[in-house]
Amino acid sequence: MKIDRQAGWTIDSAKSTYGIENWGNGYFDINAGGEVIIKNPSCDSSSGLSLLEIIEGLRDRDLHMPALLRIENIIDHSISKLNNSFNKIIDRLGYQGQYRGVFPIKVNQQAQIVEEVAQFGVRYSHGFEVGSKPEMIAALSTLDNSSDQMLICNGYKDQEFVDLALQAVKLGTRCFVVIEALAELPIIIERSKALGIEPLIGVRAKMTSKVGGHWNSTSGDRSVFGLSASQIIQVVDVLKDNNMLHCLQLLHCHLGSQIPNIRDIRGGVNEACRYYADLCKEGAAMNYIDLGGGLAVDYTGAHSQESQSRNYSLDEYCEDVVETIMSTLDAYGIRHPTIVTESGRATVAYSSILLFNILDVTRFEPIEIKTSRDASHELLDNMRGIFEYLKPARLQECFNDAHYYRDEIRELFKRGQIGLRTRAEAENLFLQVLHQVKSLLSEMDQIPKELEGFDESLADIYYGNFSLFQSLPDSWAIDQMFPVMPVHRLQEAPDRRAVLADITCDCDGKIDRFIATDREYNPTLPLHSLQDSQEYYLGVFLVGAYQETLGDLHNLFGDTNVASIRLRDDGGYEFVKEIHGDTIEDVLGYVEYQPWEMKLRYRNKLEAAVNEGRITARERQQMMNTFNASMQGYTYYEKDHLL
Ligand SMILES: *Cc1c(COP(=O)(O)O)cnc(C)c1O
Repeated sequence: MKIDRQAGWTIDSAKSTYGIENWGNGYFDINAGGEVIIKNPSCDSSSGLSLLEIIEGLRDRDLHMPALLRIENIIDHSISKLNNSFNKIIDRLGYQGQYRGVFPIKVNQQAQIVEEVAQFGVRYSHGFEVGSKPEMIAALSTLDNSSDQMLICNGYKDQEFVDLALQAVKLGTRCFVVIEALAELPIIIERSKALGIEPLIGVRAKMTSKVGGHWNSTSGDRSVFGLSASQIIQVVDVLKDNNMLHCLQLLHCHLGSQIPNIRDIRGGVNEACRYYADLCKEGAAMNYIDLGGGLAVDYTGAHSQESQSRNYSLDEYCEDVVETIMSTLDAYGIRHPTIVTESGRATVAYSSILLFNILDVTRFEPIEIKTSRDASHELLDNMRGIFEYLKPARLQECFNDAHYYRDEIRELFKRGQIGLRTRAEAENLFLQVLHQVKSLLSEMDQIPKELEGFDESLADIYYGNFSLFQSLPDSWAIDQMFPVMPVHRLQEAPDRRAVLADITCDCDGKIDRFIATDREYNPTLPLHSLQDSQEYYLGVFLVGAYQETLGDLHNLFGDTNVASIRLRDDGGYEFVKEIHGDTIEDVLGYVEYQPWEMKLRYRNKLEAAVNEGRITARERQQMMNTFNASMQGYTYYEKDHLL
């Protein structure tokens, strides 16, 4: 749908239209040339790196769209900020304990990310949280043994998992087994005796504090995680009987992910402190309070307590946590414990951007067609008649009439009483009426109630070269909103309103909720008309958390290309790592096809056609080459192959 170009459009108009300063957290901006730039977080003076320049760099390296771009500096910066923020508050309030962060591997398990967190995290002794044996193996092999990083083991643990944890303790890692279920306790005691290694034990308490946001079911009475009060007492008694109560040193709780309201966090920390204090009283050698994840990301930039935002800053979060623990435990005269948090989302969300090009656009506008002589019909005349009474006072009536006549014509078409050309003409007339209604609406101060939301029905569909199911699963599964915007041409005012569709041809593969400053969401996104010879690139931002391994192979679209960059302090940048996305052969292999067998079968089929004289040997070879090249190719739309 066309929108009137905003007069006096400037770069500032672009910034406010897409809200980049609200959700960008200082990492992203728009330069004078109208391109989105990434700013080096450790270097204020840098002019920023244009995403368009990166896309060109990727293309020259045969890393085509869609591509996931990772910015290593942003991971580093998030870890620094989290640790510095806690340390600053601890100093200021005179808190006697330390802060120790751990990164929950489930949030982004990709080796590149885990290695980056481990390498950069060493300076803050930032460790890992794991919830399964594969994650445990990844953490054990990545952690730097010379550092004081913690390793927190959650999840249901069998003997093998417990053995890995005990051996890590022996190696000198502060590795805690957190008891999530009573069945784990006898295994821990038995393996500890068998291996002669004293475990470091934590208990996960079931929290009853209610928490708002998408994931609130992980908290409350019916939470599937953690031990009830009576189960915790049972753990204490069994450990005491085995002379192991001194091994119980950590209380774990996890209120949920993406907690938008700071009050819920304070409430949860308060409850955790009550457990902690009474475990001390029971005689456990408590020394660590682990508050899990929950630190939210402000995806919409609204700074509100809506589920996709947060009503607090990082400093406020740290201050509330430290202050609550301090005041609660001081009242009991209990020594300040080491504070552990397991922030995942807030640590990695900002570091990845999904980039893709637009392949095509559908506009809901009349299309020039040749009218046929026999295409006249009474209903068409009625439809044309609408234009005679189309004026502001009768908009609703015109709108209803247009729908009525169009639907009647569709009915007649179904019954074979009118032809395709007549129907096409009717659809054209219908769109003409709607566009006139729209232009009259735009001149009116007050829009009739029934016609609110009318604009959306005329929005263009922009087809993006990506799969929502593979790259943005939460957008589909839980209506998560991510900031989406063009990464260039922002010096021009956008002249269209659109929704986005992916290339899976699945009706769920669309994005039709966009962040808005003045309401819950926008049903359309302002975009630019495509230009013939120029690619149009969009970016989906803040996709570094939870999106990569939840994605599926819908329509067998595979992993996208991935590139990691590092911004240098001199203003330059480096492509530090690249991973080519899945080939067609790769994804077919995932669903148990045998590519060599497929090639053989195709070859046999072609050879038979040669024998029957239907194709020549030369043609056979051409077909074979196309088939083989395609097997090696990218699963997404490849424009360059057409050249
Ligand atoms: C998922 C999870 C986290 C991470 O939560 P975020 O909200 O992403 O920070 C931390 N700890 C546990 C136990 C989890 O299950």
